[in-house]
Amino acid sequence: MARIISQRYAWFDSHPLKQVNTVFWILSAIAVAWALAYIRASLAVATLVAAAFLILCFLITPSSSLAIIFISLIFILIALPLNLPALRQRWISAPVLRIFRKIMPSVSQTEREALEAGTVWWDGELFSGKPHWKKLLSLAPATLSEEEQAFLDGPVDELCQMLDDWKITHDILDLPEDVWQFLKDQRFFSMIIPKHYGGLGFSTLAHSAVVVKIASRSGSAAGTVMVPNSLGPAELLLHYGTEDQKDYYLPRLASGKEIPCFALTAPEAGSDAAAMPDRGILCKGEFQGENDVLGIRLDWEKRYTTLAPIATVLGLAFKLYDPEHLLGDKEDIGITLALIPVDTPGISIGRRHIPLNMMFQNGPHSGKDVFIPVDWIIGGPPCAGKGWRMLMERLAVGRSVSLPASSTAIAKLSCRFTGAYARVRTQFQLPIGYFEGVDEALARIAGYTYMMDAARIVTVNAVDAGEQPSVVSAIVKYHSTENIRKVVNDAMDVLAGAGISLGPRNMLGPCYQSVPVGITVEGANILTRSLIIFGQGAVRSHPYVYKEMQAVSDTDSRRALRNFDKALFGHIGLVIGNLARTLFMGLTGGHFIPSPVSGAASAYYQRLERMSSAFSLTADVTMLSLGGALKRKEKLSGRLADVFSHLYLASCVLKHYEDQGRLESDTPLMRWACEQSLYEIQQAFNSLLQNFPNRPLAWLLRLLIFPGGQAFKAPNDKLGHKIASLIMEPSAARDRLTHGIFQSDSVQDPLGRVEDALSKVIAAEPIRKRIHTAIREKQLPTDGPDEEFIDQAVKENIISNEEAELVRTAVAARREVIKVDDFPPDLSSGEPVNNSV
Ligand SMILES: Cc1cc2nc3c(=O)[nH]c(=O)nc-3n(C[C@H](O)[C@H](O)[C@H](O)COP(=O)(O)OP(=O)(O)OC[C@H]3O[C@@H](n4cnc5c(N)ncnc54)[C@H](O)[C@@H]3O)c2cc1C
Repeated sequence: MARIISQRYAWFDSHPLKQVNTVFWILSAIAVAWALAYIRASLAVATLVAAAFLILCFLITPSSSLAIIFISLIFILIALPLNLPALRQRWISAPVLRIFRKIMPSVSQTEREALEAGTVWWDGELFSGKPHWKKLLSLAPATLSEEEQAFLDGPVDELCQMLDDWKITHDILDLPEDVWQFLKDQRFFSMIIPKHYGGLGFSTLAHSAVVVKIASRSGSAAGTVMVPNSLGPAELLLHYGTEDQKDYYLPRLASGKEIPCFALTAPEAGSDAAAMPDRGILCKGEFQGENDVLGIRLDWEKRYTTLAPIATVLGLAFKLYDPEHLLGDKEDIGITLALIPVDTPGISIGRRHIPLNMMFQNGPHSGKDVFIPVDWIIGGPPCAGKGWRMLMERLAVGRSVSLPASSTAIAKLSCRFTGAYARVRTQFQLPIGYFEGVDEALARIAGYTYMMDAARIVTVNAVDAGEQPSVVSAIVKYHSTENIRKVVNDAMDVLAGAGISLGPRNMLGPCYQSVPVGITVEGANILTRSLIIFGQGAVRSHPYVYKEMQAVSDTDSRRALRNFDKALFGHIGLVIGNLARTLFMGLTGGHFIPSPVSGAASAYYQRLERMSSAFSLTADVTMLSLGGALKRKEKLSGRLADVFSHLYLASCVLKHYEDQGRLESDTPLMRWACEQSLYEIQQAFNSLLQNFPNRPLAWLLRLLIFPGGQAFKAPNDKLGHKIASLIMEPSAARDRLTHGIFQSDSVQDPLGRVEDALSKVIAAEPIRKRIHTAIREKQLPTDGPDEEFIDQAVKENIISNEEAELVRTAVAARREVIKVDDFPPDLSSGEPVNNSV
């Protein structure tokens, strides 16, 4: 060794690099390590590069050979076991696995089934910290088939014309008989049933589009159509039913001969539905004159079941027990689902709840000593005890369709109606939309609508492409129903008295009233945000946690160690990579990240990638520092859910913008939605770090994520003004934003009326401006009704007779729009008798 060193000294004595000092080598080592971590180099590559670096260092630096030899020895001691799987598994992974087995929180069977439901899709990329945008951008935008489009333009439009929501909600308190018949005849309840069973066999996109159109007309009708096409008997039969069950029920459900409902929720088991006390005992009994039939004796008490009061067949979830071991060894079989005709003896059904102002059928029911043959279990006896898994799997898809569609419908309606109203309604001699306060509210209405529509469409496209994205569906359900709350609140504020006074003229008041229904159903929102989105995402969408959990519970010890070792080292690499990437992207503002597109959207891809890396790092640090306690830290979990959700929503916005051809007129909407999401991501990080229990870790994370301080600002006023203006006048961009809702041309219809007024008011605006200028210049009196100004303006030759007619038409149209309904003193009649101005 001494000889080698002395030879090297001789060889390099005159080399210029010999002057290079230690600080340089330390900085170079940091840079190389950082670069390796940034590109997520594999362990083998990182080891080779580190070895090459040390050799270079050894050859070039004459002055600190002993230090380098010492460092090299440490490097060999670390690198060798890390790169030899047998040693690594024995010395590192096996002890860590033993610790994991002790500390990993126990997961119940129902929790495991909920966690495992569905597929991992774009959520997995966002959780990796380095999303492959091509995966999202290459998802082909789905289009409606000719048949689906014809259904939307034909039966759906016809249905919308038949729907009088005021009558439904205040007069007959149900859908009219002819509407029920039309729904059955046109097979509205069979959108998800394949054609060979007599159903419509629609794509998810078409299903969503039908719900959008109906929901823009009547929440009660939309709720009625949504339920049979969502998580219920048809969906469960299609995926788990026996052939006999499918052949019998699906054609009857498709034709409307059977009206289905599905009952999970019980008085004592709401959000914690798996805790239902409803029981079924396997036994032998008499059924339709036959003795010794193997069956189930059931007792239940359920509530909130949609369509139950008029259902003919009831899907029921209950806990099944087999004390006499008639099916097998197990006594407690678990949650089971059965289809039960409602005329089976012992069932009490028919009473109704009133879900706010929505008059879809919904009610409680119970069963006492109800005996059903075991064949009525959905999927037959082999599916006994598999009910929870079946429900979770179907919910993984179902909640990404109905509520996102109905919420987006209301948002689109709010945009179109409120935007037009804000231009038509004047106060202080100006359209109210021209006032900055109203402009601010209109911007939020337009921006959130774009965000919701993007998430709806991209998600149903993914479902049509074969995904069952369980975490994504929770995100879309939660944020559609929360964002519609913001949109409708703003719309109500802009409409003011016209939104509050109920009656046939008021389209948005009932929407406002219906918002809490979406918040509560298909997983109540507080629970979805604080427990499901990050809780399930951290297991399923995370690239390694689920693999580690599987290895921990694997009883084959060799396989467990092999798989755990792979997952553990992948996980460590992910954390190191995210650490390096987050800091680098924070310091450089993400400017060096390659963007998959050019143009206005490019910077948002970079910013989202930066935040994805920060999220992935923070998620790992949080899980590591809190462990099993995170399950109880719902406020922290909720904030991580907000970051995760907005990463998803903004990705959908970018994808939607791309799919629509990067249209310049939509650019402000895209920018507003992305900036809002990035700002909400930053706010969520701020509250997370402010409340993070381990303070030093919180400071470190803040330094890594926001090294230059706060990075994002909320959309500015100028941008907000652009999108507020966009919904106040007719344009292709406004039509695109509100596409898919039902629009009547009739001035008898509130939306048709305000649209008619909008075009008339805009046509008359230049003439009105001349009148106002004349008023200001005292050529006309300063006070008086519109008609007097107009007559006077003609007299003074300020406007022509034809122009006066245009203004008169606009004034009349505006008067019609601002009218609200009034009723007799005792409100005894649902029909308004007079429309006050
Ligand atoms: C109009 C309507 C129609 C419905 N249709 C059906 C149907 O057809 N079939 C059916 O089976 N069910 C149906 N439901 C039930 C619905 O899907 C919800 O599951 C149910 O309403 C929730 O139970 P709960 O109302 O008793 O709320 P609770 O369970 O009492 O919850 C109250 C609040 O506590 C929160 N919460 C509960 N646990 C947690 C937790 N661990 N962490 C954080 N927050 C928590 C919830 O988010 C909620 O905000 C319907 C409900 C309504 C209102």
